[in-house]
Amino acid sequence: MKTRFLILSILSLLLFTKLAANEKYWQQFVHYKMDVMLLPVEHALTGTQMIEYKNNSPDTLRKIFLHLYPNAYRNNNTIYASEARKYYRKVLPSMKDAGYIEIESFRIINSDSSGQEKSLSAFHVNDTILEAELPNPLPPGGELKVELSFYLKIRKFNRRAGYRESQYDFAQWYPKVCVYDETGWNAEPFHNLGEFYGEFGTFDVNIQVPFEYIVGATGEVVEGDPGWDLVKVDTSLTKAQWREQLKKTKAEIRKKSEEGDFRTVKFHAENVHDFAWVTCPDFLYESGEWDGIPIHVLYRSRVKSRWSKTALERSARALEWLSEKFGRYPYPQLTVTHGLLRGGMEYPMLVMNSSESESLILHEVGHIYFYGILGNNEWKEAWLDEGFTSFQTRWYMETRYGSQGFDRRERLKRSTWLQKRRPARTSREANRARALSYMNSGHNEPISKPAYTYKEPAGYGINAYTKGAFFFDMLKYVVGDDIFEEICHEYFARWKFKHVNRARFMQVCKDVSRMKLDWFFEQWLDKSLTVDYSIGSVEKQRVDSLWQTKVSIIKEEKGTMPVDVQLTTQSGETFIKQWDGVEKTGEVIFKTSDKPDKVILDPTDAILDNSRFNNSPLKTKFIFEYPNMTFRPRNAFLITWRPSGWYNKVDKLRIGGRIKGWQGTQKNAEIGLWFGTNSHELDYRFRHSRQIKPLGGRTQGSLMLQKMEGRFEIDAHLSFIKSDNLTLPPMHRIWVGFNHSRQLSGKRELYSLREFSGTAIPTWQTGVVNKAYLRYGVNPRGLNWFSNLTLGLDTAQKDWGSDFTYTAVSAELKFWFPKTQEGLSLRFYTKKIFDSADTPRQDLIFLDGANPRQRFKRFYLRSDGGLPDGLHYHLPGGGNLRGFYNQPIIGDEIFAINVEARKQLKPKLPWQALNSILGRISIAGFTDIAAFGLINFTKDIFADAGFGIRLQTRLPDDWYTIFTAGRNLTVRLDFPIWVSKSLPGEDNLRFRWLFGFEQAL
Ligand SMILES: [Zn+2]
Repeated sequence: MKTRFLILSILSLLLFTKLAANEKYWQQFVHYKMDVMLLPVEHALTGTQMIEYKNNSPDTLRKIFLHLYPNAYRNNNTIYASEARKYYRKVLPSMKDAGYIEIESFRIINSDSSGQEKSLSAFHVNDTILEAELPNPLPPGGELKVELSFYLKIRKFNRRAGYRESQYDFAQWYPKVCVYDETGWNAEPFHNLGEFYGEFGTFDVNIQVPFEYIVGATGEVVEGDPGWDLVKVDTSLTKAQWREQLKKTKAEIRKKSEEGDFRTVKFHAENVHDFAWVTCPDFLYESGEWDGIPIHVLYRSRVKSRWSKTALERSARALEWLSEKFGRYPYPQLTVTHGLLRGGMEYPMLVMNSSESESLILHEVGHIYFYGILGNNEWKEAWLDEGFTSFQTRWYMETRYGSQGFDRRERLKRSTWLQKRRPARTSREANRARALSYMNSGHNEPISKPAYTYKEPAGYGINAYTKGAFFFDMLKYVVGDDIFEEICHEYFARWKFKHVNRARFMQVCKDVSRMKLDWFFEQWLDKSLTVDYSIGSVEKQRVDSLWQTKVSIIKEEKGTMPVDVQLTTQSGETFIKQWDGVEKTGEVIFKTSDKPDKVILDPTDAILDNSRFNNSPLKTKFIFEYPNMTFRPRNAFLITWRPSGWYNKVDKLRIGGRIKGWQGTQKNAEIGLWFGTNSHELDYRFRHSRQIKPLGGRTQGSLMLQKMEGRFEIDAHLSFIKSDNLTLPPMHRIWVGFNHSRQLSGKRELYSLREFSGTAIPTWQTGVVNKAYLRYGVNPRGLNWFSNLTLGLDTAQKDWGSDFTYTAVSAELKFWFPKTQEGLSLRFYTKKIFDSADTPRQDLIFLDGANPRQRFKRFYLRSDGGLPDGLHYHLPGGGNLRGFYNQPIIGDEIFAINVEARKQLKPKLPWQALNSILGRISIAGFTDIAAFGLINFTKDIFADAGFGIRLQTRLPDDWYTIFTAGRNLTVRLDFPIWVSKSLPGEDNLRFRWLFGFEQAL
């Protein structure tokens, strides 16, 4: 048995070698020799570079191309910056932030067939690509040299590289040879979406920096001192002792630096296709190793408490995991540095990470395999590196921490009170929900596309990372766990230090699994299909001494996946059979001695099944509805409950709550009941909303019926979203609906009384309003401004049983020119009501703000007393002339302009905590003016002006749905000190104030 197995292994090994050889793989070789010097005073780097290039291709080359990536940040007109504009991103906020690379001297040298050397100095730069003719054609096997010198003006940190404070991150910083492969020259300019592709080779880089700068880089130190020992964290000392010691060394280091001392370090690296480095006087250093491979960790002193030991341990675990799953880490060192960027970025032997997060370390160090060792063309096939490393990170996290996929202890440390209690989704569930919601949005693009051809950044991100990772999960499911692990090893062994692509990876998968996998690669990489299987019927019967269970399965959507069918018997034993899922319907038969109980399709949720509600008999989960809970099980109805209560003058205390049922994210229904302790009124609400799939993925239907604080209402509407992109504006929204409302009579009329300057006035009129409505909204934006246009048409007709007949048309156009919390806001608003004599008061236009119908939508404004009168609460809307707050000035025609300018306070106090609170405060100046048609009166002009204070803050997760729809809460105090028309006995200019939780415009 053993011998036969050995022969088989040798045979398959021979087969592999043969297949690999058949492709006639070749790759170019490049050796970079660089001498660079950092000039911190002018944020620049000067350097000389010699490139030795060997043509291993079967082609004769006549040109050479180099990437000059830093030029993407030269101005806002580069290809990179122009593409960013399409996504409403401005690459350089100011030209002071720009950076570029200037080639100061340039020479290519090679010899002709007779061995005669010739050189050429001409070159041409277009955007980020340098192109040059060769002095002589370069035949297969031929070699050439490029000698150049450059000046790199380092940009203010942007995306992946640059300087901030005293730290310099050097990534994509030197002239780099474009890849020449079987597709020819990959002389692609640097795009906003998508990453890199490099030629494997050797780097010898001599780095000179002022003495106080500590250096970390790709490669091994072969000469000089990177400064690590000077700032090595002695973890055996106490915090105080160590700090004292560091202070002393730092002072010495600074002194040497000030005396003009330099530090020169030479790094050498082989079998890499890029070289990155970082330097900063504030770095601390820790070292360790895994299985003889040195690990260097460099981080800024302010994060010491988080990074110390932890980053090192996690890096060692990453090397162990990757070595075990794919192949031994083949480089002589690993450097993990604290980078300036958000998230992390990978380079050979070196990663730049914004935090010590374990999954981030796994992701970036994983990239040293998928991108680094297995060097794919990242802008062409991003899924092959981002998908693979996202997949392997989750695989690691689930292996280490169980199915939740994260370190629970670590997360608890950072969780709020509520986050600790709320049911959390596993990392797999959260990603699956993200992938499926994108795949059903109507904007689904396939995984395998050049990055810059995606319509928007979100499409690139979800495809490369989220869907890309599930591609590997599903491949693992299709071929089986053991075979998948063999694939991982074979892929590494066959292709390490080479260029990989989809065909090469697929060939490995086919060779190892001996399965036909073309359908799988095509379906998931080239198409944008979804998969859904459902149980048709389950027949159980006794045949002789056994139980026979016949399960019929229906393929609901176009995508195909082999689907596991699991039967559980009454004794709890489980049996799994697989159906290939190819035809419209299928059947699986189980024979068991034990009585069958439950059947479930895809029990491990492995096939990205669009709906799992048809995979098994549904269970019901009953839990408390924590605020902001995103937990939505895929295979069970969720029923949530939560109590709520409020106060108003009629009910006094209102107590009650709601029960809500969810079927995933597509459907939900709720029932709420409230009791007025003083009025003894029982109020109720029923609401149902669902996705209406035949009308497009983003069409919703909603139905609502309520008796609420003296009013009865039924509302039914459809809402549509139409846009060319999923996340980029403009997004068009249309609502079509019908609304029935009625002020209930008798004592219930008391609810709608509102006090205006000491007099209680009924704000709702009795009688039925039956109206149809149509609204349209669109949100165009530019690089520096946002806007929102809303058009409305409401019409109530006696023919529909309405007691009122009127028609109202309105348009509101808002502009925001934001600068963080500062900026300018403009609002133009016009509305005209026809037949205003037959319009109920709740639907008329109020000069000071929202009308009663709009106020009714806020639970705390429905009835008087919901908020204390003394609070002067202002709800924006209507004419929004704040100076006329709480004056019942009501009309049927308006044209209003509101203007507000904000300026953020930027305090420089010695107390950081106070600075950060005050920093969120801005002061505002505003003016409002309206031509207003008063009911039964002539038109008149009203105006006001004043100033205000706003506190804008992101609410903690626990609180953010209470008053606002999102996380951003505004607390607004307005002082409309001037009005054009004052109340009798008041001056036009006087102190007035009001308060609100929403932005005024
Ligand atoms: Zn990545």
